[in-house]
Amino acid sequence: MKAPLLVLAIVLAGCANTQKETSQNNSTATNPIKSPDAEKKVYVTNSGKKYHSEGCRFLSKSKIAVALAEARKSHTPCSKCVPSK
Ligand SMILES: [Zn+2]
Repeated sequence: MKAPLLVLAIVLAGCANTQKETSQNNSTATNPIKSPDAEKKVYVTNSGKKYHSEGCRFLSKSKIAVALAEARKSHTPCSKCVPSK
């Protein structure tokens, strides 16, 4: 019964090495993907400190389109429409 256990240990060690190399390759390949936040549009109001997704009822008074990345710098997400999710 000792031989099969030895084989199993070798196989597991081989898998561990393979997974490590794979994860390194994945992280490198993921980096070039651009964050969608810079292109996604959200809306702010003249007086509010929240940003909203299109169609939110809080946009009835004023509606100013800005990039999500810009809105995050000075505004917090609306608790009703939460455009970041
Ligand atoms: Zn909203």
